[in-house]
Amino acid sequence: MRLALFFLVGCSATSPIFQPPTTFPPDLQPEILEASADWNARTLPGCEIRWGENGEWVFVNQPPKNGLAGWSSRRLRRIQTIANPSVGMRALARHEFGHALGIDGHTATGVMHDPPEEFTNDDIEACRDVGCCP
Ligand SMILES: [Zn+2]
Repeated sequence: MRLALFFLVGCSATSPIFQPPTTFPPDLQPEILEASADWNARTLPGCEIRWGENGEWVFVNQPPKNGLAGWSSRRLRRIQTIANPSVGMRALARHEFGHALGIDGHTATGVMHDPPEEFTNDDIEACRDVGCCP
């Protein structure tokens, strides 16, 4: 029973692999990569946000509908953002990566707050709830 539960929790963890964010200006691409590294410093193995030419996920410079600054879909394996969010690209990318990891809602504080802030324990708890943080 303990093993089965561990197996299920392990399976809920996702390790999204993104195609490089080449639709953004060259000065913004490092901010997006840093945002993924910010999560990877906190997540468990199996939940790393990775980059590769053959990645299933895309992170594209395409304004979401309804005037949103950012949008993500795990079903479509897609994140869309504007290139000049008021909160900064790194903060916006962190937020959308949190959704990609499986965090559906928003937190009272932190990068998963709307609008996003710096990392807080609320983020770690939400990340733990989806099986991606210790
Ligand atoms: Zn959100």
